[in-house]
Amino acid sequence: MSARPLLLATANPGKLRELRAMLGDMAVIGLADVGIDDLPETADTFLGNATQKAVEAARLTGLVCLADDSGLCVDALDGAPGVFSARFAGRHGDDAANRALLLERLRDVADDLRTARFRCVLALADAAGALESRVLHAEGECHGSITRAPRGDGGFGYDALFVPIGETRTMAELPSSWKHQLSHRGAALRAMLPILLTYIGSH
Ligand code: IMP
Repeated sequence: MSARPLLLATANPGKLRELRAMLGDMAVIGLADVGIDDLPETADTFLGNATQKAVEAARLTGLVCLADDSGLCVDALDGAPGVFSARFAGRHGDDAANRALLLERLRDVADDLRTARFRCVLALADAAGALESRVLHAEGECHGSITRAPRGDGGFGYDALFVPIGETRTMAELPSSWKHQLSHRGAALRAMLPILLTYIGSH
């Protein structure tokens, strides 16, 4: 079977980098390769947004599309910022402002109550192929806690504030290969991989 390229339907460079790295030698392209700047995400759940992005990318391109919707859910904030993680402080994708606002909101929260989890929902759409109108999903979570100050230069988003359970380092201090082992995105992608391999026809 000849390989079909997979379109990674995300405008977030951090997610794109991680998905590319985890997919290894699979033939993948990004939104920039098909001239799309960004995709709408107007739903109020991770599942809804991932589905919306995958379906819209598949409609626009006729390709097999994998979309990621993810975010940080903080227990002391009743699950916020959740689906609003990218625009917690107002401007979409302002990671430094988002981290600063999170620390401010948690300033008076005791160490043992700073628990949180990253969530990731992946959606696979292939409207022009065998999936037709169906969309396949996979999910992953990573549990941990929020520090009192940023640490580390790796990763993106809230990584410098998040220590996974069983670790002393933040996600931003971990080697990227180890982040992939622990992360919500890594777990979701491992769950999605058998489906992806069938669709893309490699291996
Ligand atoms: P969206 O899925 O494009 O709505 O945005 C997801 C947002 O959640 C990102 O902009 C980050 O702020 C945050 N996020 C998702 N995954 C990660 C991660 O692996 N590390 C750090 N922050 C993340």
